[in-house]
Amino acid sequence: MPLRLVTFSNKWESPIRPSSGEKDPVDYARKLDIKVVVKQSVLHGSGNRHDVQRVANVYIDGRQFGVSAPPDATGSPLEWVKHLYVTQMGSMGEEEEVRGEFADLALGKVKDELENLEKQKRDENRANGIHPDGVHWAAQICLSGHVQHCDDGKPIDPNIHCTKCGGRCIDECPHCAEPIRGVQRHRAEIYARPQFCHRCGAPYPWMQDRLQTAKELLYHDDKLTMDDRTQLLDLLKYVMSDPRGGLAPAKKKLIEIKLEKATGYVREIFLDLIAKIAAETLKP
Ligand SMILES: [Zn+2]
Ligand SMILES: [Zn+2]
Repeated sequence: MPLRLVTFSNKWESPIRPSSGEKDPVDYARKLDIKVVVKQSVLHGSGNRHDVQRVANVYIDGRQFGVSAPPDATGSPLEWVKHLYVTQMGSMGEEEEVRGEFADLALGKVKDELENLEKQKRDENRANGIHPDGVHWAAQICLSGHVQHCDDGKPIDPNIHCTKCGGRCIDECPHCAEPIRGVQRHRAEIYARPQFCHRCGAPYPWMQDRLQTAKELLYHDDKLTMDDRTQLLDLLKYVMSDPRGGLAPAKKKLIEIKLEKATGYVREIFLDLIAKIAAETLKP
């Protein structure tokens, strides 16, 4: 199909307008010749508030648009989609911001392209057993918490079952689909199995069950006030999310002190639970 030639009397005027025969602007936009050239898929941020972080150039029927992020934006431009803006070279040789359907079209195309790139990278990394952040190996863990892969760079096979318990395995957060991190690739470290998703903060399945047990235990103990229960759960979550952190011993001590009020068996089971989780977490 020949490309439609659109002429502009004014660059602020939107060209994405159906002519008499075409009612649907989306359909019309599909006939435009659009190319996206991504300049940066990771933003590093700039201290200078006049700096432009160009994310991509978009060519629509031969006209160039720039899509940029604010100077202090860092990380994936996809996380900054709402703050990206579109510019065009003005007659004075200065970039001028453009709004309207043209700008929306350019933004939409850049978002699609970035998502494609991210997915491509994710698939490539997955095939090499690397976490999409590029820093960690990918991890695969069974629902009960037995670690299958965390440092070997083997491709993740979603269909395997746990070699210890036969359970189903996951390699991403069931809540937000963020892949689970293994050990860092360029550092020798012992793997601390994560208990909570680093992106959304939800407990992983192996932690969910234990948190539920801990919660039920505490809520059945009449010797504890509502406040005690909430605080104990928060402390537990804290210790579990960072068992080797500097504050973990102090928080553990606080748990012990708070539990002194609790019924004997509740205290025992609770402390036992913490010891077990800590031991599992720190296992290489
Ligand atoms: Zn297992
Ligand atoms: Zn998550």
